[in-house]
Amino acid sequence: MRFGADYAMLIDGRLETGGASFAVLNPANEQVFAHAPDASEADLDRAVAAARAAFPGWAATPMEQRRDALRAMASALVANKDDMLRLLTREQGKPHADAEGEVLGAAHWLDGAAQLDLPLIVNEDSDVRYSETRRVPIGVVGAIAPWNYPLLLAMFKVGPALLAGNTMVLKPSPFTPLTTLKFGELVKGILPPGVLNIISGGDNLGPWMTSHPGIDKISFTGSTATGKRVMQSASDTLKRVTLELGGNDPAIVMPDVDPEAIAQEIFWAAFGNSGQICIASKRVYVHADIYDRLRDAIVAYAQTIKLGDGAEQGTQLGPINNRPQYRRVLDLIRDAKAKGYRFLTGGEPHDGMGYFVPVTILDNPPEDSRIVQEEQFGPIMPLIKFASIDEVIARANASDYGLGASIWCADEDEAYAIARRIDSGIVWINETRHMSPLVPFGGHKLSGMGVEGGEHGLLEYTNAQTITRKRPKAV
Ligand code: NAD
Repeated sequence: MRFGADYAMLIDGRLETGGASFAVLNPANEQVFAHAPDASEADLDRAVAAARAAFPGWAATPMEQRRDALRAMASALVANKDDMLRLLTREQGKPHADAEGEVLGAAHWLDGAAQLDLPLIVNEDSDVRYSETRRVPIGVVGAIAPWNYPLLLAMFKVGPALLAGNTMVLKPSPFTPLTTLKFGELVKGILPPGVLNIISGGDNLGPWMTSHPGIDKISFTGSTATGKRVMQSASDTLKRVTLELGGNDPAIVMPDVDPEAIAQEIFWAAFGNSGQICIASKRVYVHADIYDRLRDAIVAYAQTIKLGDGAEQGTQLGPINNRPQYRRVLDLIRDAKAKGYRFLTGGEPHDGMGYFVPVTILDNPPEDSRIVQEEQFGPIMPLIKFASIDEVIARANASDYGLGASIWCADEDEAYAIARRIDSGIVWINETRHMSPLVPFGGHKLSGMGVEGGEHGLLEYTNAQTITRKRPKAV
């Protein structure tokens, strides 16, 4: 164990680097390039105590001031964009251009959250009674983020949680703690001490948070397996939970589209961020009439893609972020090979350092194959042939997941009719992955519980309070 870290936690308005630390690797070369603080249970207790102490003051702070604080945090990110994007590429692996998109996206999400408002509903306004329902902050929010979009997905939580008047303890993934810690350093002077605490640590830290009696709500983004554990652990203290979990999004491509015109979009729908996106297209169902043309166009485009270190100019796809996920992806590829499925590209392991997996496209593997049924979370695309609408809708819905889906179809009425039959939290038509801080997003089935974004997302950081007043007797 090493003591002292290169990046600091933010606890009660102070930056702390002391105590134990853990190594952070660059996934492009597997070299340790920094150490992050490894929070102890006592550190978590102090962070929670600071958030509790700050809560009454922050909850009473006028909404306009809370909005200003979110906007100031967004500006701090934009002003430090270049340093942040380089750090993000080093810890996460994504190419610089994508890292820039994530840093600016994180700022956009804070600015977007600042536009939201809490509703006041008048239930009754009669001679007998006045009754209203307002929304009040919950208290201390424990936020737990994953490693695929560490900064952006943390800001999905920071913006609305703080706007609603809660205080917070935020924990990044141990694979990607640095940009989130750096964010804490940038915004330290913007918020009163204790309003936002950022702590990093190992595998125990998440479970300590979900069972901590001083935390009132958990907002979690990560895998479905962990999400189940989070809900179980949070039940003891009856914490509110929002769970943004895994997905196995279908893309349905109808025969009336021009296959060559959409091939690149379909490619990026699956391979953006090297497939490490909860809403990546993970099963691409293509109508038999255009299957061969779309397949050939996607495979031709795939040959032009540059895989490499995200810090090198021209890189379009980076490595997998971490060794456990790299192993999972290789295991899925090995299984597909062993079963004799046809590979159109990829499938060969990479020699040398770095968690690189080449773009891998499979030609019509069976519906019950692991590569179709499981969330790959890597650069793999199973192209699957279908013949009828009823059949493809049944196949798309026959999944435990229900996060997103996309329909590619020139006939908008038909696309809309299909979209309404898909069991997922969001369905895109002729595009994919469009998201906004003003639009609710969340999963059906094992893809999660609750939503983030828009007014619906903001409400998840509040309790309802109804106040009723009997009117004096009318004379
Ligand atoms: P993960 O579940 O392994 O880890 C997520 C976070 O939970 C990390 O910070 C981790 O340290 C923490 N954690 C681990 N065990 C915990 C426990 N027992 N209690 C509390 N916290 C714990 O997920 P990951 O591998 O970082 O992320 C990939 C997964 O996240 C994929 O399944 C992906 O689909 C999903 N994801 C979902 C969304 C969404 O919005 N629905 C967005 C991005 C990623």
